[in-house]
Amino acid sequence: LGLPAPLPTTPVRRRTRRIHVGDVPVGGGAPVSVQTMTTTNTADIDATLQQIAEVTAAGCDIVRVAVPTQDDADALPAIVAKSKLPVIADIHFQPRYVFTAIDAGCAAVRVNPGNIKKFDDRVAEIAKAAQAARVPIRIGVNAGSLDQRLLAKHGAATPQALVESALWECSLFEEHGFRNIKIAVKHHDPMTMVSANRLLAQQCDYPLHLGVTEAGPTFQGSIKSAVAFSILLSEGIGDTIRASLSAPPVEQVKAGCHILQSLGLRPRKLEIVSCPGCGRLQVDIHHLAARVEAAFDGFPHPLRVAVMGCVVNGPGEAREADVGVSCGNGKGQIFVHGEVVRTVPEHRVVDALIEEALSLTEDTPSA
Ligand code: SF4
Repeated sequence: LGLPAPLPTTPVRRRTRRIHVGDVPVGGGAPVSVQTMTTTNTADIDATLQQIAEVTAAGCDIVRVAVPTQDDADALPAIVAKSKLPVIADIHFQPRYVFTAIDAGCAAVRVNPGNIKKFDDRVAEIAKAAQAARVPIRIGVNAGSLDQRLLAKHGAATPQALVESALWECSLFEEHGFRNIKIAVKHHDPMTMVSANRLLAQQCDYPLHLGVTEAGPTFQGSIKSAVAFSILLSEGIGDTIRASLSAPPVEQVKAGCHILQSLGLRPRKLEIVSCPGCGRLQVDIHHLAARVEAAFDGFPHPLRVAVMGCVVNGPGEAREADVGVSCGNGKGQIFVHGEVVRTVPEHRVVDALIEEALSLTEDTPSA
């Protein structure tokens, strides 16, 4: 059903140690996973679980929740019990929440031991508790949270500064024999983030979480994330990703999934192949493509659906599509696997595509 053959250029993944975030393996050749972070008040259990359900349906593998208050920490057991995804607790300065998160069954904890050491040195206790519960720790360093000492030394949040900071944070756990770690070094500039991850990949074997931090609104953020992730993943670097868009978590997940699908690192789901339009255009292609995309949202089979703006290059140009339409003179030629099967008035095009897609997949189990 239109699934692309595996890319001959699928990159050889960097060898890393493998950790497990709940039942999701990360690193050590495991599939690259997609993450996001909820935007609800974590203490609002129903709202948080609702958002987790939405991102689960969109293809998310791992979800992170912020734990800035005691109420948020108290909500963790109920969230973990009902979430279908492994839950990472994101904690900054309060070591006591780390223990609550581990007791609640969180699949991992994001905490920077440098912060804990500075304010309430309980790094050894955290390492011991996480070790006993087999809970990995995610260490995250970004330009905004860079240690002042390193900022002074390097003059800016350079790739070297980010890497030095991350490896120093790791060493605080390593001193206690703890190595169940993954690392994220993030920067809002994609190429700085790429350089930092390349450097980090040379200097440790921990799995790496990729993110362009504060990437921006959906359009800009998706492009910045796609550029950075593509460079790194094509070099085999990166084990889990998050597109940090200023957009709802579900949009972040969709962007992450599309990036992995485009790189041949995740099986393709539904794909809309629509032409950009040109002087031959005989329909409002942008509007029609958006309507087709909306109508097929959630379609449970990995079809490729073509939407072409004229009949000149229609079925021929989109012959690899499973179903498609080429438009002209107020009509749409509906084609299936490159063969025109019927012609319908323009207002019937979307329904006709859905009908053909359903009949094509009626005997196929859902993906
Ligand atoms: Fe132009 Fe037709 Fe190709 Fe669309 S399908 S880009 S309208 S030639």
